[in-house]
Amino acid sequence: MPKTNETVLEIDLKALEHNFNYFKSKIKSTTKFLGVVKAFAYGSDAIKIAKKLEQLQVDYLAVAYTGEGVSLRKSGVQTPILVLHPQPINFDQLIEYNLEPSIYSHKILDCFLNTVSAKELSKYPVHLKFNTGLNRLGFIENEVDTLIKKLNAQEVLKITSIFSHLAASEDAKEQKFTVSQIEAFTRISAKINAQLTHTPFKHILNTSGILNYPSAQFDMVRSGIGLYGFGNNKETDTQLKPVASLKTIISQIHKIEPNGSVGYNRGFTSNKPTVTATLPIGHADGIGRQYGNGKTYVLVNGKKAPIIGNVCMDMIMIDVTDISCKEGDEVVIFGQDNSAEEFAATANTISYELVTGISQRVKRVLIE
Ligand SMILES: *Cc1c(COP(=O)(O)O)cnc(C)c1O
Repeated sequence: MPKTNETVLEIDLKALEHNFNYFKSKIKSTTKFLGVVKAFAYGSDAIKIAKKLEQLQVDYLAVAYTGEGVSLRKSGVQTPILVLHPQPINFDQLIEYNLEPSIYSHKILDCFLNTVSAKELSKYPVHLKFNTGLNRLGFIENEVDTLIKKLNAQEVLKITSIFSHLAASEDAKEQKFTVSQIEAFTRISAKINAQLTHTPFKHILNTSGILNYPSAQFDMVRSGIGLYGFGNNKETDTQLKPVASLKTIISQIHKIEPNGSVGYNRGFTSNKPTVTATLPIGHADGIGRQYGNGKTYVLVNGKKAPIIGNVCMDMIMIDVTDISCKEGDEVVIFGQDNSAEEFAATANTISYELVTGISQRVKRVLIE
């Protein structure tokens, strides 16, 4: 692999394929697979990832907002796209680009019905979202009867699927709660099958759900973080490959005398002769200030170097006193050998937050 000459986020599509096949092997061959590509495909590159997933014959894609779906359509992605959290202001655009909304409340339902009716369209595909305990978005169980009455009285919308979302699928301590969510969804599904004039397909599992509750796979599963290489547990992580690696280089090396200081507000002071390296990446790139002051490591020539002092907007400084290195050498912020999950954990956060926060200033480089 050629070494980088600047800060880049490498995106490894082979790793994506590996992870996709791993999760496919965990489900029945008849179960559909939805790839979640919201938030620039978890901070990587939504278009490249969506096109690769399309090539791998993913059944569905999901984004959070309409604009994300529009950008995929404009790039030529043809796979059905579920918009998880649409807003009425974007309904015209959503329809124009053949995106499929999650309908999560009566207000959204009535508003979407009106928009589609006004265009004299019929049987527009939509997905009903049920709240089974996350208490974030969705209809509740005792709204099912009135909902079905409303839906059976119209032909404007077609209920393509019904779904729910688990609150704690990665958390063994919350197994009882998760099972109660799956049971609620099963009851809702049965009611809908019995009363709706046609049978929508069903889905509830996210990445950790696929791993921990495979018997609840229904007709489709939805994976995001797993596709990008994180399984929310150590054992699975060893089976997966990170899609994104954040790399940079050493811009300058400094020799710091005892009692010298490094960075703004003299965040680091040396008690012995110290060698530091300055890297062209900072909080504006998504490496927040919480990663400074010695808690977090990067890899320099395979060795761990702590980030010292305060993280600056465009730079960080690392301690390379005991590492043989020179200006221009490659530095791995996170990747195969120092995972984003571990990096994030040093600041009490999770891989999801770290990877989705890598700013658009960082060049994305595709590894095919
Ligand atoms: C983001 C999201 C997912 C993906 O979750 P992962 O834990 O990343 O697999 C699935 N379903 C819904 C509704 C989501 O919002």
